[in-house]
Amino acid sequence: MRQQFVAGNWKMHGSLAGNAALLGEVLAGVGSARCEVAVCVPFPYLFQVQQLLQASQVAVGAQDCSVHASGAHTGEVAVSMLQEFGCRYVIVGHSERRADHHESDVLVAAKAQRVLEAGMTPIVCVGETLQEREAGQTAAVVLRQLQAVTHLLGEQTARIVLAYEPVWAIGTGRTASAQQAQEVHTLLREHLRAVSAAAADVRILYGGSVKPDNAQALFAQPDIDGGLIGGASLKAADFLAIIAAAR
Ligand code: PEP
Repeated sequence: MRQQFVAGNWKMHGSLAGNAALLGEVLAGVGSARCEVAVCVPFPYLFQVQQLLQASQVAVGAQDCSVHASGAHTGEVAVSMLQEFGCRYVIVGHSERRADHHESDVLVAAKAQRVLEAGMTPIVCVGETLQEREAGQTAAVVLRQLQAVTHLLGEQTARIVLAYEPVWAIGTGRTASAQQAQEVHTLLREHLRAVSAAAADVRILYGGSVKPDNAQALFAQPDIDGGLIGGASLKAADFLAIIAAAR
C-alpha cells in the first residue's frame, strides 16, 4: 500500500515573515495528516524552513538542482548543498524549467540521478502541453519524458517520486478531470511496471490546479498517490484541506 504524499511547490514566492506565518499555520493543522507532507521552497529560504520544520512531520524540499556536482557553474546549486540544508526531496523537470530554461529529457534524467546519488528523492515531473494534448500526443510525450529517466536510472527508478503535471493545468485553474489524470497515471504505472516490480510501486502525484474542492476526487483514483501543489500550497487553509483529502 503506497502512502499518499502531498508536496507544496512554492515556486518563486515567499518572504521571511510570510514563510514563518504560513508554516506556523500549516504546523498547527497538519498533526492529523495521514499522508506524507513536504514543502519545496526557493533556495534562499532553505535554512529558515529547515529550522521552522525541525522535528515536525513536514519534510523540506528544493525546486531544482544543478546537474554538476560542484565547480565553475555560476548561479547553480549542488545537490550536496541541498542535502546540508536537510532537503529530503528535489523537484526536477518542472515544466516551468523545461520551458524557461530549455531543460531536455536527458538533462532532467541526469538531475534525478544526481539527487539519488546524494541520498535524496527526486520528484520527477512529466506532462504535455495543451497543443500536444490536442494533437493526441499525450501518451507519447509523457512516456518519452519518463523513458529518459528509467533508461538512465534502471532499477534505481524505484527510488523516485513521479509527478504528472499537464502543462495546460498548471496555474491556470483548469484541472485535468480525475478520469483524465487516472488515464495518464495508468500509462505511467504500466511503464514503471515494465522496469521492475519495485518501480511499479513508485508514487505518482498529480499536479495542476489541485484545490480543496477537487483534491478528494483526484486522490481517490487508484493510481494517483497524492499531489504536487502550486498556488494552493501558499494558503495554509487550502493546503491543509488538500492534505486532509489524501488517504
Ligand atoms: C506546480 O507548480 O507544480 C503546480 C501544479 O501549480 P498549480 O497547483 O498552481 O497549478
